[in-house]
Amino acid sequence: MHPAVRRHRTPPARRSIGYSAASRKALPFFLNTFRAAAQDERPDQGKVLRCILFGKPGAGKGTLSARLVKKYDILSLSTGDLLRQHIAERTEIGRQAEEIVAQGKLLPDDVMLKIVASKLDLIRNKHWILDGFPRTVGQGELLDAHLKKQGTPLSLVVNLDVPDEVILSRISDRWVHLPSGRVYNLSYNPPKVDGFDDETGEPLTKRPDDNPEVFARRLTQFYASTSPLVAYFAAAAQKRTRLPHTPVPHPHQLAFAPAHTLLLKTLSGTTSDEIWPKLDALVRDSFPALKENAETLDAQTRRRHSLSDVALAAAAAVVT
Ligand code: AMP
Repeated sequence: MHPAVRRHRTPPARRSIGYSAASRKALPFFLNTFRAAAQDERPDQGKVLRCILFGKPGAGKGTLSARLVKKYDILSLSTGDLLRQHIAERTEIGRQAEEIVAQGKLLPDDVMLKIVASKLDLIRNKHWILDGFPRTVGQGELLDAHLKKQGTPLSLVVNLDVPDEVILSRISDRWVHLPSGRVYNLSYNPPKVDGFDDETGEPLTKRPDDNPEVFARRLTQFYASTSPLVAYFAAAAQKRTRLPHTPVPHPHQLAFAPAHTLLLKTLSGTTSDEIWPKLDALVRDSFPALKENAETLDAQTRRRHSLSDVALAAAAAVVT
């Protein structure tokens, strides 16, 4: 199906409050009140993408979140990028982070939450992706508590599964554009001009922690502190999807779509190009309210037009 069609598809034929204006009018008073209140406080609740992109260092979190941001109306927040920016600007956090980052170690959980929470507060009702946070179960708990307080719980956790040997072999070829976080790889995703960012023309830099020795430490750190988060999110996803106190509805009763479900998906592959279509389909199908950016739609229209021009020219050639 064409993406533009997918975005405007008719809602599934189920009896849920969200889809039928007529059913809404017929609702008992307390249900209407409940719905109105919920809408006022948290518009579009349950359909908002609040996503953690989770995976080993070098698994492609930055590349894939940049692709999502380019295609959809999503904001992304990378803690690694934020810290590198702080370090470059010599802020207090930057001075504290410099050595820890250079050694491939992790900053304390409370410092990280402070950095992330102030940004999350600014993007409360937007679709967003977190790249590089949380990185410990402690950070996961702090994040959950913060989002619960805001009434904006996580809706998707994507676990990027890329083999260690693949990551280790490509890390020395990685270059980044610091201000935007754009990532290049000399072997399979080189910049148009060697050493410079495609969009701004500014110079690319090598991350000081992208050397084999520090990288091996970051990978060890991942297994020790970060990978237990998969079990943590799996338990959270199960708890939020089960709805233990909801009685089984009578077939003629209105069914509530659970507003706070958390989806946990593992996507495997050896390159971001291989994982991207799976991630794109997951996001598109799970969050149909997500809008594509005008630029993407323009490109699709241009492509469609040029394709139909080709078809018309071919048809004319047959006729003449
Ligand atoms: P990244 O660009 O995500 O690989 O992050 C680069 C470095 O920043 C990591 O190796 C850590 O030193 C630090 N860092 C980034 N995110 C976090 C986090 N959530 N907790 C602690 N340290 C972090």
